[in-house]
Amino acid sequence: MNAIVELTASAHVADVRGALAALGVWTRTLRDSSARTLILCGPGSVPLDLDAIAGLTGVAAVAQEPSPHPLLDAQAGRAIPITERLAIGPGAPQVLIAGPCGAESEALVHRAAAMAAAAGATLLRGGAFKPRTSPYAFAGEGVEALSWLRSAADAHGLALVTEALSERDVDAIAKVADIIQIGSRTMQAFGLLRAVGAAGKPVLLKRGRAATLAEWRLAAEHLLAAGAAGVIFCERGVMGADPELRNTLDLAGAAALALVDKQPVIVDPSHATGRRDLVVPLSRAALACGVHGVMVETHPEPALAKSDAAQALDSDGLAPLAELFACTPGVTA
Ligand code: PEP
Ligand code: MN
Repeated sequence: MNAIVELTASAHVADVRGALAALGVWTRTLRDSSARTLILCGPGSVPLDLDAIAGLTGVAAVAQEPSPHPLLDAQAGRAIPITERLAIGPGAPQVLIAGPCGAESEALVHRAAAMAAAAGATLLRGGAFKPRTSPYAFAGEGVEALSWLRSAADAHGLALVTEALSERDVDAIAKVADIIQIGSRTMQAFGLLRAVGAAGKPVLLKRGRAATLAEWRLAAEHLLAAGAAGVIFCERGVMGADPELRNTLDLAGAAALALVDKQPVIVDPSHATGRRDLVVPLSRAALACGVHGVMVETHPEPALAKSDAAQALDSDGLAPLAELFACTPGVTA
């Protein structure tokens, strides 16, 4: 946490900065809108001691610079409880989340849940409401698919994460989901963030394709301010320049949030690459960076997937991840 130091009328800026430096803090001179000189200072070799700073000659007042996301700061360093047996984030075991892009049918969702459980996943994913670039593309089966997802998750002892695309569907989703997902395209749909936050559930917040880390953190603050029980960040690739890759996986951004901010972070290499041949290697890379889990798209018969077929893993494709999560692969759905 930084502080802002206001000077007395007679103070010499260089003298006050020297005195602050002697307290072991870094300083920077700022001018505010009425042209007063202020000194921004932050913890250097030692933490800030506001009382010691206030007592320096030439200092009229000192105030903590408020964080733009106090609620997010408050969840740092702890895992978010999801169910009685499952938590995601710092201190909890890394998780595997697996399932289809879209909940296409009841049978598909059950087969995908069996695949996920066999691979050591603890959460089933799958969209009942799909954000699609074209209005004519498969957009999910809607409310009916929510009950398929819940019963498939229960049948295989999995928790469930599924996306809310519209404020209209939040109540129905909150009744079945353990975690509500905010998709990349709606990361800054602030009305949706408020409605999802108000449901009081943990939220998986995907990063917008062109969002900065600062914008991502503030979207999380919107959710928490509205009442979300916790926010898990999901890095799913940012806009890149190469058409051979759907997006560019920003492992540095994910690591910054997980290791420096100490926030719960998972990585989705499926949407980051759009290619099943890269999903397992990038999952390994993400887990090696110390993020708290990975989310991958699966399908028992990828060629038949109604959306994102090129990135879906079948049972054989999932097997290396099953090894990573120390489970027995090979149970076919
Ligand atoms: C998804 O995970 O189902 C999805 C639509 O991903 P994204 O929002 O990252 O594109
Ligand atoms: Mn998808």
